[in-house]
Amino acid sequence: VALHNPSDAHESPTKIEAPRPVGIGTANATMVMLARNDEIDGVLSSMATVENRFNREHGYPWTFLNEVEFTEEFKSRVKNATSAHVSFGLIPDEHWSQPNWIDEVMATKGRKKMAQAKIIYADNVPYRNMCRFNSGFFYKQPILQQYRYYWRVEPNVRIMCDVKFDPFDYLRDNNKIYGFTIAFTEWEKTIPTLWSTVKEFMVKHPEYVNEDNALGFLSDNKGKTYNLCHFWSNFEIADMNFWRSEAYEKFFDYLENRGGFYYERWGDAPVHSIAAALFAPKEQLHFFRNIGYRHEPFQHCPSGADYEGLNCECKAGDGLDYAPQSCIRRYENLFSGK
Ligand code: GDP
Ligand code: MN
Repeated sequence: VALHNPSDAHESPTKIEAPRPVGIGTANATMVMLARNDEIDGVLSSMATVENRFNREHGYPWTFLNEVEFTEEFKSRVKNATSAHVSFGLIPDEHWSQPNWIDEVMATKGRKKMAQAKIIYADNVPYRNMCRFNSGFFYKQPILQQYRYYWRVEPNVRIMCDVKFDPFDYLRDNNKIYGFTIAFTEWEKTIPTLWSTVKEFMVKHPEYVNEDNALGFLSDNKGKTYNLCHFWSNFEIADMNFWRSEAYEKFFDYLENRGGFYYERWGDAPVHSIAAALFAPKEQLHFFRNIGYRHEPFQHCPSGADYEGLNCECKAGDGLDYAPQSCIRRYENLFSGK
């Protein structure tokens, strides 16, 4: 197989495709972005790649969330960046603040300990609010109630290849609940007691653990310890009905009551990943191999046949997929009987 040279990728195609009308996406879905007002440049940059590579042919609406009001400037610039419908949601205080029952002395101690270990966002409380919000509250926002599927976008990310299919349709038509592009290992010091808490939950609620689960993605010893693998949640195309399910609701409440979002720094990526891997059958997870995606400092670029014809700006297969810290192999092994 000849390697595709990315510099050839922009040669005009022999077949001329008729432009498709805007707004033909048929899934019950939205693009969703949590952002701060001062991130507007990164927001517009992400939107441009998503619109150019995918959404200008589908017209899926954009939903923006913030714990403070978006400025008029933010709103008008964002509206100018798409012909799709745009809406803005204000996150209520109780979804974006440290609960008052959290022991502040313990929380401070936890942050100091993490800072000494030089962990990123160690002593950052807003970051913890964000992780807790993405874990347990985004899908509860009134503005998202009308939607089932979402594509999470962050400021300063890139979709690096044309997306020539509708990923929402793909999830719906194949009965999948969670799609990802990058999977690798978490900083253990941010989640020291997460796995023991998960194990307690599984003992209390065996009824929620799917018998065809993806535990092999999370653990190399049948659940005894967590191997730190998670799907990188800054990219997610997923089904909010899963987060809205009884299993996930009970799971989030259990984690919340432990205070680990504040005493430690539990991330929404391991929380989402652990839930999706345990409570859904492994067949309902999906690796979007054919979507090129970059969030600094990592990326996934399609390879082989998946790469052809997508006008990628990345080199085929140039990414983290099979790097030592990647968890893609463990995901693949779920389906190869290993
Ligand atoms: P990282 O990717 O883990 O390094 O974290 P980011 O800084 O990219 O934050 C993750 C997402 O949450 C991005 O969409 C940010 O725009 C958003 N975010 C982070 N902190 C805040 C905040 O304090 N307020 C708001 N509104 N959004 C935030
Ligand atoms: Mn980010």
